[in-house]
Amino acid sequence: MRATPDIAHLSTPHASPPPLLVRDHAAFLDLDGTLVEIQARPHAVSASPALRALLRRLNERMAGALAIVTGRSLGDLDDIIEGAVDHAAGVHGFEIQRGGRISRDDVEQARLAEARAEVRQLLQRRKLPALVEDKHASLALHYRQNPEAADAIQHIAQELAAKHGLRLVHGKMVVELNASARTKGYAVTVLMAAPPFTGRTPVALGDDFTDEDAFAAAKRMGGFGVLVGEPRRTHADFTLPDPAAVARWLEAGLRRA
Ligand SMILES: [Mg+2]
Repeated sequence: MRATPDIAHLSTPHASPPPLLVRDHAAFLDLDGTLVEIQARPHAVSASPALRALLRRLNERMAGALAIVTGRSLGDLDDIIEGAVDHAAGVHGFEIQRGGRISRDDVEQARLAEARAEVRQLLQRRKLPALVEDKHASLALHYRQNPEAADAIQHIAQELAAKHGLRLVHGKMVVELNASARTKGYAVTVLMAAPPFTGRTPVALGDDFTDEDAFAAAKRMGGFGVLVGEPRRTHADFTLPDPAAVARWLEAGLRRA
């Protein structure tokens, strides 16, 4: 099963997004590559005090209608942003946090347990250097430090996904074996269904293929997506070049308020 969304028929946006409206918009922000620069090792990522302060102020001015929607686990996210926002989705929608409450999808752990053992064996046997990250509902194989091994690592992931009925999720320099059928689009949809999001216009920002589901969901509900990084075909209607531009766009929204 291949989860990379079909984007070949879509167009490439070049325009900057309209201003963020803190009273009318609901914001769904990816973390890595969107709010913070991607690092070679995922655990080397940190949020600056300025970024955490910006998120805190936005969370307050948007009355909580701001969520971080990430492929990271919520625990990992919280270590980075230190509780700056009330709402978040982890592991591509597998975990949903609303205030102090966290709900998780019911995934079959047995299938994942077998894949977990096998992935390490296969990598070792074929002498492939990948960083294996265990996210409870998903196993992420990172190869940013060894991009030449990308094809071989993706091949192993494909093999195991087919064998154990897991979903294959492709990201930047990472491939995941996911036991949950949830996507970032699910996270946007489910958060929009309840206060403080309801009645607002969803705006989703992200840099990766896994963000396409969030862009499509935001658009379906009358909002828009913003692709961060190099222009490419996408469900997003607008683009911003990098995390620094995202921070400036968010700050401009705060100043307008
Ligand atoms: Mg990202």
